[in-house]
Amino acid sequence: MMEQQAIIVSTRNKGKVREFAHALAFLGKPVQSMYDYPDVPEVVEDGETFAENARKKAKEVGDRLAMPVLADDSGLCVDRLDGRPGVYSARFAGEGAADEQNNEKLLAALAELSLGEDTEQPLLSPARFVCSLAYYDPADGSFVEADGEVEGWITSEPAGSGGFGYDPLFYLPEYGKTMAELSLEEKQAIGHRGRALRKLVEKLGGQA
Ligand code: IMP
Repeated sequence: MMEQQAIIVSTRNKGKVREFAHALAFLGKPVQSMYDYPDVPEVVEDGETFAENARKKAKEVGDRLAMPVLADDSGLCVDRLDGRPGVYSARFAGEGAADEQNNEKLLAALAELSLGEDTEQPLLSPARFVCSLAYYDPADGSFVEADGEVEGWITSEPAGSGGFGYDPLFYLPEYGKTMAELSLEEKQAIGHRGRALRKLVEKLGGQA
């Protein structure tokens, strides 16, 4: 039997791996991540934008494996923090920080602005999740890119155990729930990653 070509996603983030595996299942191909290629070095994310980092993650890994690679760079931009943590979302509380530490740091940064003291008003700031995707093919050096966003509010009352990262603090008023209270399907339908992925799949046509 011919071995089926996998979709390789340039990430070690288990939350992202789960979401990509679910979202790309319709392609009928296995989805692999950097856990399947442990020798590939970590990519240094020193870009100033999500798009720049996504291209870098796709290109370094794609060139190394000599195979097409999909990369995601994403994060949370909080209005009252002038867009922070932005591209520093994964390491807001320091290099290698756990999600819980980043969430605590986010609430502490908003509390410094005297937000969160009014327990009657748990919504602290408008915010958006942003996702930039880059699909790189080392055969011809081409990139296909797409991005997606979702608007919400940072809440002082974390809720839910789904998703990852800042999801328990990201409240969606139209659903009356945080992102972590949504099912994988619901998050994919309205979330930044799902939106970006649908655009990317359309741009790629039958290429992936
Ligand atoms: P990256 O791996 O450098 O792109 O960092 C992504 C970081 O942004 C994650 O570690 C989370 O802190 C945050 N993030 C990105 N997407 C999501 C999401 O879907 N939910 C919650 N947090 C997210």
